[in-house]
Amino acid sequence: MPEQVTGSTHGKLLSLHGGHSIYGDGSGRLDEFVRAAVKQGMVAFGFSEHMPRPEKYWYPGESPEANSWANFQRYLEEVQQVKAAFRGQLEILLGAELELIPGQEDFVSSFLHEFQLDYAVGSVHFVHDVGFDYSVESYHRALKLCGGQECFALDYLDTLESMMDRIPFQVLGHFDLFKVFHQGAFPLTDRMREKIDGLMARIARKSLLLDINARGLLKPCQEIYPGLEILRIARRHNVAVTLGDDSHAPSEVGQNLDGALQHARSAGYTQISFLRSDGSRDRVMF
Ligand SMILES: [Zn+2]
Ligand SMILES: [Zn+2]
Repeated sequence: MPEQVTGSTHGKLLSLHGGHSIYGDGSGRLDEFVRAAVKQGMVAFGFSEHMPRPEKYWYPGESPEANSWANFQRYLEEVQQVKAAFRGQLEILLGAELELIPGQEDFVSSFLHEFQLDYAVGSVHFVHDVGFDYSVESYHRALKLCGGQECFALDYLDTLESMMDRIPFQVLGHFDLFKVFHQGAFPLTDRMREKIDGLMARIARKSLLLDINARGLLKPCQEIYPGLEILRIARRHNVAVTLGDDSHAPSEVGQNLDGALQHARSAGYTQISFLRSDGSRDRVMF
């Protein structure tokens, strides 16, 4: 029997972005992630391991093994095993975090053709081919390449905009990752607001779920993705939101999700959407 935990967030927590494990840049076995999710009374937990990337996009020191399709196949099989082992206790989803990199659409579509997933998270980690969230040095390299803070954020948003229709995914990951290594609030400019407004209208039309991702609290930006002003724009456009702990270890499962719920509430949200592995959508009120 799963251990019962009482509390105001019991049965309201879920994560569709996370479970990064030994199969990617995290640690821990998949059953340990699920056990942690069950312990917290989560209704759904989605594994969204990073997809393998073409060699040009490997991070320093990354092994070919971590980017092999054989590695992803082993991950997929282990997710299927935990799905069977924990059946009836919570919804477990098999997913991947896809790279939205201009020019790599064919690579992503052959990946999606090879592996049958329940869902996918779409994320921008590269701007002008620089993996800007890898280190503070790479972040500043990307900023310099773009010609400053605002231009960098706009190039990031342009990348997202251009890739949204070219790669299929259901959850849009950490919308304002462009702030990751910025100390203090990343100021939105009028041009950024205008761009974000247009993007949110498209996200609503495409019925994508926006990832309210708590991992930003652990980064130098110390803020949930997306920030409150952006989340309010999303709310205005009736964009549906989901939660992501973006856990990279079993001990990080559910971390700061109560704060993410509060963040959602501050933007006017009263429900959190999630997916089921049969492709249907569900939601929790909070
Ligand atoms: Zn990511
Ligand atoms: Zn992630």
